[in-house]
Amino acid sequence: MASGGGGGETLGGPRVLVVGGGIAGLGAAQRLCGHPAAPHLRILEATARAGGRIRSERGFGGMVEVGAHWIHGPSQGNPVFQLAAAFGLLGEKELSEENQLVDTGGHLALPSMCCTSSGTRVSLELVAEMASLFYELIDQTREFLHVAETPVPSVGEYLKKEIGQHVAHWTEDEDTKNLKLAILNTFFNVECCISGTHSMDLVALAPFGEYTVLPGLDCTFSGGYQGLTNHIMGSLPKDVMVFNKPVKTVRWNGSFQEAAFPGETFPVLVECDDGGQFPAHHVVITVPLGFLKEHQGTFFEPPLPAAKVEAIRKIGFGTNNKVFLEFQEPFWEPDCQFIQVVWEDTSPLHDIASGLQDTWFKKLIGFLVLPSFKSVHVLCGFIAGLESEFMETLSDEEVLLSLTQVLQKMTGNPQLPAPKSILRSRWHSAPYTRGSYSYVAVGSTGDDIDLLAQPLPEDGTGPQLQILFAGEATHRTFYSTTHGALLSGWREADRLIGLWDLKMQQTRPRL
Ligand SMILES: Cc1cc2nc3c(=O)[nH]c(=O)nc-3n(C[C@H](O)[C@H](O)[C@H](O)COP(=O)(O)OP(=O)(O)OC[C@H]3O[C@@H](n4cnc5c(N)ncnc54)[C@H](O)[C@@H]3O)c2cc1C
Repeated sequence: MASGGGGGETLGGPRVLVVGGGIAGLGAAQRLCGHPAAPHLRILEATARAGGRIRSERGFGGMVEVGAHWIHGPSQGNPVFQLAAAFGLLGEKELSEENQLVDTGGHLALPSMCCTSSGTRVSLELVAEMASLFYELIDQTREFLHVAETPVPSVGEYLKKEIGQHVAHWTEDEDTKNLKLAILNTFFNVECCISGTHSMDLVALAPFGEYTVLPGLDCTFSGGYQGLTNHIMGSLPKDVMVFNKPVKTVRWNGSFQEAAFPGETFPVLVECDDGGQFPAHHVVITVPLGFLKEHQGTFFEPPLPAAKVEAIRKIGFGTNNKVFLEFQEPFWEPDCQFIQVVWEDTSPLHDIASGLQDTWFKKLIGFLVLPSFKSVHVLCGFIAGLESEFMETLSDEEVLLSLTQVLQKMTGNPQLPAPKSILRSRWHSAPYTRGSYSYVAVGSTGDDIDLLAQPLPEDGTGPQLQILFAGEATHRTFYSTTHGALLSGWREADRLIGLWDLKMQQTRPRL
């Protein structure tokens, strides 16, 4: 096998590989399938299933979403909403004009019930007052998008500085002030779940407003989110998807020959963990940023250019996990949708000093009440950050025990029976994900996202578009979402189609 320049395309047309069968990879394949730009197309997926971070599992008599939960901003500008509607996966309410027009500004609805960690009910008026302060401050962060210099580097520091000023004007007694701070602390933890970060101090202030919220009241898939990726996969010819094929190394800018294709040379050779080799003209990389952070040093040969390595290092990628708890009997009211937990004696203005072992659960924001399937009662807890990663190291029994104690204290009922069963995600430990989703970290900007998305090689240094980059972390305004991921896959497919069109124009005989 020789290395060097070259890489002329075959008579049969280019060979295109997509690495990763999440929604970005499937979207790219869907767009390329049947197009002359990619007559030979394969998706190499490391695991035994398609969907990646869209993962619906059977459980509790219905479907539970281990990964993506909602369509964020389900309206006409959202391609996930459009596809889901076209596949008939959404109900009447989700499709209604009224639902599509709701403008949430990206803020969560108020909880139906709020309890302190020692069992006191918190008035929903007080929660609403704190929510309105918190979201007013979050909205203010958008004003820093185009300013030359921000007062502080992170969203967290900005929020804390502003809250500190508000506190100075609070006139209530100390207990009420402390409760207000503890409620605000929960909103910080909610925001950590939304941003997929350990702390809002890690999230860059200036580019925070670049994330774009689409109109529409967030909705779910009653039959499971994975129905969407399964439908896309079903629209591809059977042999396109290759499962259990973890890619180990992407060799590029070479001139590779393969016995199966005598006389042909390829600029890229993809090598898998099992020794399998796939020559290609173009490879669309859609592996998660968490995987790239861990493996970029050995995943590409030659290594990536320094600027790309820097972008991979700088863009944030954190953890948000879910814990599903099944109960024999509900302890919540029938119309309850979200139970918020307020950890007493916490404050966004003071960090907790003790170790993770004793305090990890204090990052839990509360529990979403899942629609009950066949009288099965399930709560879904959300927890982000290092506490969430620590939780992944614990056994189900340990998590169940801690959360039972939390719930007994919260409800003021020491006899509350332990949940019947538990199911949880472990996105940080997942070897082909290594976290949940990306955010723009302090020290990075939207330019780093664009840089990550740039194809290789850089212009003029070898055959064009050998490696293309898609995936949620490559979308500048919709990062961290399924629609961002889908759009990124389409974007790279269109890039390849554009190159094909250009080549066709150049080879067309001139009259
Ligand atoms: C807990 C959680 C909740 C979320 N909630 C929402 C939500 O409510 N709404 C929303 O819009 N988004 C949500 N998201 C984010 C959303 O799921 C992702 O942004 C999106 O699914 C990412 O798609 P992707 O194709 O970029 O990556 P992925 O879905 O991660 O796909 C990448 C694929 O690459 C494969 N792969 C990795 N390494 C290799 C390798 N070496 N060789 C071959 N294959 C490899 C992986 O197995 C995977 O299948 C959530 C995510 C999580 C984790």
